[in-house]
Amino acid sequence: MDKNKIIKAGKIAKEVKEYAKSIIKKDMLLLEIAELIETKIKELGGDIAFPVNLSINDIAAHYTPNNDDKTKAHGLLKIDIGIHVEGWIADTAFSIDLEDNEENKKLIEASSKALENATKVIKENTKLNEIGKTIQETIESFGFTPIINLSGHSLEQYDLHAGITIPNINNKQNTPIKQGLYAIEPFATSGNGKVYDGRPSGIYRLINNKNVRSPIARETLRLIEKEHDKLPFCSRWIIKKLGTKALFGLKQLEDNGNLHNYPQLMELSHKKVSQAENTILIEKEKIITTE
Ligand code: MN
Ligand code: MN
Repeated sequence: MDKNKIIKAGKIAKEVKEYAKSIIKKDMLLLEIAELIETKIKELGGDIAFPVNLSINDIAAHYTPNNDDKTKAHGLLKIDIGIHVEGWIADTAFSIDLEDNEENKKLIEASSKALENATKVIKENTKLNEIGKTIQETIESFGFTPIINLSGHSLEQYDLHAGITIPNINNKQNTPIKQGLYAIEPFATSGNGKVYDGRPSGIYRLINNKNVRSPIARETLRLIEKEHDKLPFCSRWIIKKLGTKALFGLKQLEDNGNLHNYPQLMELSHKKVSQAENTILIEKEKIITTE
C-alpha cells in the first residue's frame, strides 16, 4: 500500500466532487458533465480510474454517456467518480435531486446516512455483516430497501474489486475486516432492492490479448493495450483517438472475447435508486480518503 498516493488520489477526488456539485444543472447534457469532470481530474494531476458513471433514476450504476449521447441530466442522478495516482484508487459517489422531489431527497438522505453509519462501524476486525447490518437498518429506517446484489469492495493497486465484498445487507458473513483500502457504497431504493443486467454500457475492460484479424480491431486493441490495459475505459475515449470506426473494432474485440462490456445495472422494479460512496483506508486508525 502506498499511503501517500492513496491520500493524494482521495484529495483530488474531494476537489472533483465539489467541482461536480458546482457545475451540474438540470438539462445539461450528460456528455458535457462527463467530459468536464474527466478533464478536471487530469487538471488536478490525477488519472481516471474508470469512466465517470452518470446513472439516472432506476439505473443504479454503469451508465456513461457515449460519444453522441443526447441524454440530459434529470431526476435522481448518481455521480460515481474514480481517480487513481499510479494505480492507487479513490472511488467515490454522491447523488443529486434535479426535480425537487421529496422522495428523491429522502432516498439521497437514506444512502448518505447509511454510508455515515457504516463508516462509524468499520475498523480493523469489524465483521463484514456488521457493516451490512448497519447499512440495511439505516436504509430501512427511512422506509426504503438496500440493493442487495450491489456492494462495497476492497481496492488494490490497479484493482477496483480486489476480492473482498462489503455487503449492503446483513448477509451472515462474519469475516473480520483486515487493514487495507475499502470502498463502502450503499444504494437505497423505493423498489424491489435488486438490480439486473440491462443494456451494454460501452464501459469495457480488457480481459485477454488474443489475436484478432481485422485491421481496425487490431488497431483498437493496440490502443487499449497501451492506455487501458488495467482499468476500465469507454467507447467515448476510444472514439476520440480513432474516430467512430473504432466502434467496429470494439464490437469485434467483444465478439472475439478480448473485452468485457459492462451491462447497465437496472433496478428490478424500475424504481429510483440513490447511492453514496467513500473510500476508506483502514490501519490502526481509519482515514476517509474521499471526504
Ligand atoms: Mn464507485
Ligand atoms: Mn465502488
